[in-house]
Formats: sequence, structure tokens, C-alpha cells
Amino acid sequence: MREILELCVEMDLLAQRAYRVMSLHCDNTDLAKTFKKMADEEGTHVSWWNDLLGAWERGLLPDLVNDTDVLTARLASLRTELEVAIPGELQERSDDEMLATAARIEFFMIDPIFGELIDLTEPARADRRHEAYSAHLQRLIEAIEHHYEEGSLATFLAGILNRTWRDNMALNVYATRDPLTGIHNRRALDTHLRQWSAWSARYGRPIGVALVDIDLFKGINDARGHAFGDVALCAIADALRRAIRSSDLLVRYGGDEFAIIAPETEPVEFDGLLKRIVETVRDIDLRDAQEIRVPLSVSAGGAVAVDPPASYPRSPDRLLAAADQSLYSAKQSGRDRAAAAVILGL
Ligand code: GH3
Ligand code: MG
Repeated sequence: MREILELCVEMDLLAQRAYRVMSLHCDNTDLAKTFKKMADEEGTHVSWWNDLLGAWERGLLPDLVNDTDVLTARLASLRTELEVAIPGELQERSDDEMLATAARIEFFMIDPIFGELIDLTEPARADRRHEAYSAHLQRLIEAIEHHYEEGSLATFLAGILNRTWRDNMALNVYATRDPLTGIHNRRALDTHLRQWSAWSARYGRPIGVALVDIDLFKGINDARGHAFGDVALCAIADALRRAIRSSDLLVRYGGDEFAIIAPETEPVEFDGLLKRIVETVRDIDLRDAQEIRVPLSVSAGGAVAVDPPASYPRSPDRLLAAADQSLYSAKQSGRDRAAAAVILGL
């Protein structure tokens, strides 16, 4: 993992240096300004990766990739290609050559590998990171469009660069998000839970998994229609988003069921989280077409694994089964409540 993050730092440093040289030596003042901004933004990207490296050193980041060797080799080859793509004597190059270099740099940076790493390492901040990168790329696209005639090969290629990035992002959303609520889907849960569970066992840090199920949801659908049921599902997803910490991962687990991964959460804190979830949903002010308030409630249960350092990782299935048992007891004891979490490992 360390090597992977170091390669990311190296690539952004290469880009930052290239943009800096171009900003200092470009005759066109508008372009020089664009390159300066892009160099500053690359500096920000370097600090993202450096922060993650720091977190890794402090044991706060799980080993997130399964095929470390494959990924390391791929990044190393990308880094070499990027080095080759940045010409020597960059300071003496023409505006056209500088713009072509910038486009080549970004062609490497839109590789889905970086987006994937951002999603895995920082699920809570990934959206903001992707937006920041979009703005960075957009800056270059606009500079190219401004510099070359409309309909030229250069503007067409810039459009392709932009389109490739957008398509990558869209495919990533399709693969990991639930289309109705916009929160993560079960596929994302499988990946993240496996990784967080391994991390938690390795460092002996607690990890909580919550399951939340809407109470008598079938009745809401039956009484008010499926479309209204969808609105209620979205309102509950929003409420859950508000109830959790930004480092937790919220997932639509199935039809009317949600899951939350809460890393670094002690059992007492976790029970507090389950209670907060139930209360936040109870407070939702959802109105039907006649402005009549439709009360919503959920039942919540969960499991917290508390294992000593260097333990064997708990399987996601085991964690989810324990959480399900706790959710079942919340339902059995009357719904609209949180059951005590099952503690594993004490
Ligand atoms: P309980 O309190 O025991 O959980 O009762 P319930 O009615 O919520 O349980 P049940 O599992 O019988 O019903 C779940 C309902 O969720 C049935 C299904 O139609 C509804 N549902 C699942 N996915 C969606 C969806 O995407 N949109 C809407 N509107 N309803 C959905
Ligand atoms: Mg239900």
C-alpha cells in the first residue's frame, strides 16, 4: 500500500513540476496563468496522497487493495509513461507543445485507477475529490478550446479527454451506487467491509456494522403507492447520512434495508449511533400530497468486533449475521427502536 501511495505522490509531483516550468516560461500570459493554477492544484493532489501516506504510517488506513503487486506494477508503468511524455527542455517549448504536454499529463491522470484509490481510501471525501479533479481537468479543456479554432483537431481531442473522464466517472457511479438514493450499493459494501474488517483485526481496532430496516414499509407502499414509497426511502437515506460520521459508509443493503460500516467505533459509541439513527428517522417531516404528515420509523441493530491486534480477520458474513440477529431482536421487541449491538470478540 505504501508503494502504491508513493507512486501516486511521484506522479502528481512530476505533473506539478511540469506545470510549474510551463507557467514560468510560457509567453502567453493567459496560458501561463492556467499552468500556474494547475501546478497549485497538483500540489493539493500531492498533499491528498501524502495525508494518506501519513495515515498508513499511523496504522489508520487499511490495506485496501487485494492485488497489490498488479496495481503497483501498473502504477509504476504509468509513472514511466508519464515521465516519457514530458519532454526535456520544457521551458523552451512553444505554446502548442506545452498544451500538448498538459493534455498528455492529464491523459494519464484520468486513469480509473486513481479514482478507484480515492474511493477506497476516503469514501467520505471521495465526491469532493472527484469534483476538484473535474474542475482541474476542465481548466485545461477550456484553455485548449480558447487557444485553438472551433472544430480543430485539438479541440476535438480535448473533448475526447473530457468525455473519457466523464464516462469513467459515470461507470464508477453505476458500479458502486444505488440509483434511487445515491448512496453506496451492496457491491461497495462487500469491498469496504472486507477491507475494514482486515484492518480492524490487524490493528486491534473496533469496527461496527449496523443494519437498519424500515418499519412496516410495505404498508406505506400499499397505502400511498410505490412512488411515495420511493420518496420515503430517499428521505430515510438522507436522515441516515445526517446521523452517521463522515468516515462511516452508508449502503442500501436491500429493498428497505440499509447497512452502515462504522470503523473506529467502540461498543458504547456504536450503541449511541444506533439510537441516533432511530431518533433521526423518527424526526423526519414527510408529507403526502394532502400535506398530511406520514410518520416513518426504523428498527436498528448491529455488531461490533473488538479483537486484539494481529487477529484473524472476521468474515463480513459473520459480522452481518450478528448484526442481523440484533436487528431481528429490535423488530421482535416492537420496532421503532435500536437493539443492543452484539459484541464479538470479548
Ligand atoms: P417490517 O417492519 O417487518 O420490516 O415490515 P415491512 O413491511 O417493512 O417488511 P417487508 O419486508 O414485508 O416489506 C419490505 C417492502 O419494501 C416490500 C417492498 O415492496 C418494499 N420495497 C423494496 N424496495 C423498494 C423500492 O425500491 N421502492 C419502494 N417504494 N418499495 C420498496
Ligand atoms: Mg421493513
